[in-house]
Amino acid sequence: MSEQIPERESMEVDVVIVGAGPAGLSAACKLMQLAQKNKKELSVVVLEKGSEVGAHILSGALFESRALDELFPDWKDRGAPLHTAVQQDEVLMFRDHQKAISIPLWMVPKPMHNDGNHIISLGELCRWLGEQAESLGVDIFPGFPASEVLYHDNGGIKGVATGEMGKDSDGKPKASYEPGMELHASVTLFSEGCRGHLGKQLIDKFELDKETQTQHYGIGIKELWEIGSDKHQPGLVVHGAGWPLSEHGATGGSFLYHFGDNLVSMGLITDLSYENPYLSPFDELQRFKHHPRIRQYLDGGERIAYGARAITKGGLNALPKMCLPNGLLIGCDAGTLNFSKIKGTHTAMKSGLLAAETAFNAIHGDGSLADYEENFNRSWLYEELHRSRNFGAAIHKFGSWLGGAYNYIDQNWFTGKLPFNLTDPVPDHQALKPASGLKPIEYPKPDGKISFDKTSSVYLSSTNHEENQPVHLKLRKQSLAVETNFKLYAGPEERFCPAGVYEFLNTETSPELQINAQNCVHCKTCDIKDPVGNIDWVAPEGGGGPNYANM
Ligand SMILES: Cc1cc2nc3c(=O)[nH]c(=O)nc-3n(C[C@H](O)[C@H](O)[C@H](O)COP(=O)(O)OP(=O)(O)OC[C@H]3O[C@@H](n4cnc5c(N)ncnc54)[C@H](O)[C@@H]3O)c2cc1C
Repeated sequence: MSEQIPERESMEVDVVIVGAGPAGLSAACKLMQLAQKNKKELSVVVLEKGSEVGAHILSGALFESRALDELFPDWKDRGAPLHTAVQQDEVLMFRDHQKAISIPLWMVPKPMHNDGNHIISLGELCRWLGEQAESLGVDIFPGFPASEVLYHDNGGIKGVATGEMGKDSDGKPKASYEPGMELHASVTLFSEGCRGHLGKQLIDKFELDKETQTQHYGIGIKELWEIGSDKHQPGLVVHGAGWPLSEHGATGGSFLYHFGDNLVSMGLITDLSYENPYLSPFDELQRFKHHPRIRQYLDGGERIAYGARAITKGGLNALPKMCLPNGLLIGCDAGTLNFSKIKGTHTAMKSGLLAAETAFNAIHGDGSLADYEENFNRSWLYEELHRSRNFGAAIHKFGSWLGGAYNYIDQNWFTGKLPFNLTDPVPDHQALKPASGLKPIEYPKPDGKISFDKTSSVYLSSTNHEENQPVHLKLRKQSLAVETNFKLYAGPEERFCPAGVYEFLNTETSPELQINAQNCVHCKTCDIKDPVGNIDWVAPEGGGGPNYANM
C-alpha cells in the first residue's frame, strides 16, 4: 500500500481562505461583491475544518453590526439572524458565593455598554454568511482543514494543502486513504480564529510578532440553557467579574444573555494568565452557576449545549504584522478582538473586509498586499483597537477592581487617549507557579441539575473524531509531560482542558500521560497554556471535532 500512495492533486484559484468564521466569510463575500461591481472574474475557495459551516463556531454572542452594515446594508431584508435586540445591560461584581454588587451603568466603561447591539448565535450568523457567500459564487469546502502552508521557491506563499484522510493511529495509510489536495492561489487569507495552527507557524516563520508585546488569551467555556418562560427576559445582558476566579487570584469575566425562545447563553472566560496550577476553568464555571444571581435563571431549566474556545485578547499592543508574502493573517488568527467590549466578531469581520479590498486590488494590479497595513491603520478598526489597547493589561496588572477603575477613567474620561501603553510581558504559559506549597483546590461535586461533570458536558458538544487516526495533539517531547508538567505543576493539563482530553495514569507508580484526542473540542487551550509550550495542536481529519448546532 505504502508504494501506491496517490499523489496530491492541485487546483488553481485566485484566493483561498482558511476558515469559515466571521473573518473568512466576510472576506469571501466582499471579494465577490468587488468582482461583480468591477465586472471581473474571480475564483474564491473557503476551506473549513468543521463538518459544516458553523460546526466549530462558539461565541457569546453579543453582536455589534457595524461591519455587517458595511457588507450587507440590507441584511434585514436578506434575513440575517439578528432576532434579539439588547434591552438591558447589567454589570455585577461578584464578591463571594452569595453576594454580588450591581455596578451602576454610569460607572461601567463605555465600551461595555450594549445599546443597539443584538444577542445572536454566531454559529447561525456564520451559516447565513456562508449562504450569502455561496450565492455570490464562493466555493465553500466544509470538512477540509488546511493542514500545511505551501511555499514558492522564492519563499512566498503558494497556497495550502488540505489534510490527508485515512491514516491509522501509527500514521500508516488505511484502505480508505485519500491524499490531501493542494490549493494554489494568488492570495491566501488565514482566518482560523484564535491560535490557528497555521497562523502560529506563520507568526513564527515570518517573525510577525517581533515588534509587538506579548499576546494573551482566555478560555471561554459556554453553556446554552433553555429556561422557564417566566424567568426569561429577552434582551437582558448580564456581565460579571470577581468571584469565583478572584478566590485564586485569577481574573476573567462571566456572561449571561437571554435571547431567542427561552434561551440563555452563559459562560465564564478565564484569563489564561492565571498562576495556580490547581485551577480548573471548567469547575470554576460549574460552581459559578450556583451563585444566587445566576442560579435564579437556571433553576428548573435544561442545559442543551456545551463547548469551549480560546480567545485572543492582547489587542492592538500584541497584534502581529498581518501581511505575509502573498497572504494575510486576519481576525482572531492575528488577534483583532476588542477586549474592552469583549467582542471580536465585528472586528474580525472588518479585518476581512479590509483584506478583501486589499487582495482584490493587488490581484488586479492596483496596489499590493503590503497596502493592508495602511488600509488597516486608516480604518475604524484601528481607531477602536487603539482606544482599548490598555484594557486587558490593566486588569492583569491591577486586578478586577483597580483595573476596572483604571479602565473606567481611561475609557469614560479620556476616551482611551491616556498617552501611554501598559505592558503585560509574561506569556500565559509561563505564569503558572510550581504546585509545591499550594493546596489542591477542592471543587464541589456537580449536582447534575445546575452543575455537571466533564464527560456529560463533552457529550453535549456532539464531539466526534475517527478514533483510528494519528493523535492531533502533538507532544514536542514526550518526557516533559511527566518530568515537568506532572512533577512540577501537578499535571495542569488535566484541569485546563475543558474536555477531559488529558489524563495522567499510574500516578502513584510510574505516571504517564494519556491523550484522549477523540474528546477534543478544538478550543486550543492546551497549545497556549502548557507550561513548557510542549503541545502543538494540529488539525485532525476533516469533519472531526465538535458539532455545535448553534453556539
Ligand atoms: C466564549 C466566547 C464568548 C465570546 N463572546 C463574544 C461576544 O459576545 N461578542 C463578540 O463580538 N465576540 C465574542 N467572542 C469572540 C468572537 O467569537 C471571535 O472574536 C470571533 O469568532 C473571531 O472570528 P474569526 O473568524 O477570526 O474566527 P473563528 O470564529 O474562530 O472562526 C474560525 C473558523 O476557522 C476554522 N478553522 C480553523 N483552522 C482551520 C484550518 N486549519 N482549516 C480550515 N478551517 C479552519 C474554524 O473551524 C472556524 O470555523 C467570544 C468568544 C468566546 C470564545
